[in-house]
Amino acid sequence: MLTDAVLAGLDPEQRTAVTAPAGPVCILAGAGTGKTRAITHRIAYRTLAGEVNPRHILAVTFTARAAAEMRSRLTELGARGVQARTFHAAALRQVRYFAPRLLEGRAMPELLESKARVVGLAAARVGVRADRTGARDLASEIEWAKSSLVEPGEYPVAATKALREPPFEPAKVAEVFAAYEELKRRQGVIDFEDMLRAAVWGIEDHPDVAEQIRAQYRHFVVDEYQDVNPLQQRLLEAWLGGRDDLTVVGDASQTIYSFTGATSSYLIDFPRQRREAVVVRLVRDYRSTPQVVGLANAVIRQARGNEARLRLELVGQRPPGAEPELKIFPDETGEAAAVAKKCRELIAAGTPASEIAVLFRINAQSETYEKALAEAEVPYVVRGAERFFERTEIRQAMIALRAAVRSIPGETPLVQAVVEGLAATGWQREKPPPGGAAREQWEALAALVTLAEEYAKSPTLEPIGQAGAVQRDLTLSGFNDELARRAEQQHAPTVAGVTLASLHSAKGLEWDAVFLVGLADGTLPTTYAKTPEQLEEERRLLYVGVTRARQYLWLSYGQMRSSGGRARRPCRFLPQLERNSTTERAGGDRSRKPDRRRPQVSSCRVCGATLLAGADRKLGRCPTCPSDLDEDLYERLKTWRATMAEELSVPAYVVFTDATLVALAERRPSNPAELLAIAGIGPRKLGQYGPAVFALVGGADPLSAAAEKL
Ligand code: ATP
Ligand code: MG
Repeated sequence: MLTDAVLAGLDPEQRTAVTAPAGPVCILAGAGTGKTRAITHRIAYRTLAGEVNPRHILAVTFTARAAAEMRSRLTELGARGVQARTFHAAALRQVRYFAPRLLEGRAMPELLESKARVVGLAAARVGVRADRTGARDLASEIEWAKSSLVEPGEYPVAATKALREPPFEPAKVAEVFAAYEELKRRQGVIDFEDMLRAAVWGIEDHPDVAEQIRAQYRHFVVDEYQDVNPLQQRLLEAWLGGRDDLTVVGDASQTIYSFTGATSSYLIDFPRQRREAVVVRLVRDYRSTPQVVGLANAVIRQARGNEARLRLELVGQRPPGAEPELKIFPDETGEAAAVAKKCRELIAAGTPASEIAVLFRINAQSETYEKALAEAEVPYVVRGAERFFERTEIRQAMIALRAAVRSIPGETPLVQAVVEGLAATGWQREKPPPGGAAREQWEALAALVTLAEEYAKSPTLEPIGQAGAVQRDLTLSGFNDELARRAEQQHAPTVAGVTLASLHSAKGLEWDAVFLVGLADGTLPTTYAKTPEQLEEERRLLYVGVTRARQYLWLSYGQMRSSGGRARRPCRFLPQLERNSTTERAGGDRSRKPDRRRPQVSSCRVCGATLLAGADRKLGRCPTCPSDLDEDLYERLKTWRATMAEELSVPAYVVFTDATLVALAERRPSNPAELLAIAGIGPRKLGQYGPAVFALVGGADPLSAAAEKL
């Protein structure tokens, strides 16, 4: 049977999801548990079994890459003819198809690729002075509002409620928003959200269109459902028209797009909204080593809030690998150099460069890594972000700095000259803007100043591209030449290389080796995350980052952003970074501070995952892994402990905690080595209670064991 092949290679939970009858199905799956696998197999299973016609299925995801991936997996499984698209692509196709009917012959409006230009014009109309960056931030606000089904007049209240931090007064943003809508109408253009709205309107207000679309699409599948926004949800409901053949897959712990209007509440509420839904939970992680899975669990275990209600403890399925490396460097430059060096080593040892990723919180961090990788001659590709030297503000700054050579006296110290030169572009060192695109731009220019500081100070920094010791030109003009050389090197066309990407753009992807860098408080979480909700989203970002790694995971940060700065603290979401890490000395030498506090690494004896929480270490297994507790021994241990506690006049937990009792009853230690292997039991407890424990394990009754005490 063809369907047997589809079912082979699935675990029992995946199989339940795949074979569930027609109707609502909700797969709540952790990272790397095979969500895409489960839904593609469900589609293939149903079509090959003849239950549904592939032409009647619409599978939607959020990125073109994910849609393409889904199509290719479906083809491999022998399920042809299924539509797998992004929400946008599906809506666009339908709007195009129905446009002649809906628009009564008028031409379909042109689609705006980017809002910023029209938003800039709209801002000028209502007297808001917005530069390019301001326009970009305004466009983000408008996008959020439209995705959240918020009309211009409702914006001020809705934005305040949602704790938005708009670039201008909310009432002003609302005015720009209204002017933008008007301008578009007059210019005969629509934006992406209008297109989704048109698809909704086409169905909701036109029974004939609704009928035709609903006859075509009868079975729906949504991947990454935690990322759906209210506008997309409305379209999904319009497609469904009250029917219920809908399979959704999501992981609330990976909700990282709330700031754009996405909300995991549809996923979280799904089982309550559709009580007849088959709800399946997948917890086996097939992507990462148990060591990586252990860290991912430790990161997300502390999560709070709505998304955390559905949190699942992942269980690693792959063979054990290396422990994640946790490293602290004196500064970011040293961190980047070490990352580049390690990339070289991995590549030399056989890991393809395309199987390595360096992930960071904000795009402005990219520059340091572009530079370090270029210097180490490691090829790289920047995903989802402009390369540093191609950024508009950097190109403008380089022009301004060249012009400044004429106006700034030659004897001015380099850093001061650069700061003054940049002032011509409006940049002010003391005034970092609060957030969004403006902040990113500010950070990029600040990175130029940092570069100047290093260039002026560091005795080891050789001008790039020049071999051996040369007299460095510490004037502004010398620095400009250095920038030009760097830009040239980094503009060099790159082949398949190490991926440099923001954590946001890494979602859904996987690599053999992943470097999570800049994990300092203030960067992750960003200082702009203030509310508990915003902080939780930052925690989830780290979780997404950790779960991208198949084999090798490196986590690091530089204590100082640049030499001489203030020391930063490690990302607060990292369990025990300080205790379980090595601190690299300045100058990149190999010596390590001996860390006597480094805890014993212990692994789950069932699945091999790294155990980070104290209680789990004591237990010797993940709380979710199956227990092989000897009930009778456990009862005898408890009675014995009560007797001992009474005799010694101490509380019972002073003798052994509950977790230790469980561990003893599970592992049944019969010699000192086995007893000492249980976390929390040292030589003192071995001496004091060892004979009694061995007697109990050997079958003794509690009272005679109590007599064994020394
Ligand atoms: P994310 O949350 O990051 O999007 P995901 O849940 O979509 O992850 P997939 O990408 O579908 O996970 O699967 C992760 C990896 O595990 C893939 O390489 C997939 O082929 C593999 N995998 C999934 N299920 C199984 C299974 N039952 N047996 C073997 N490998 C599996
Ligand atoms: Mg996926």
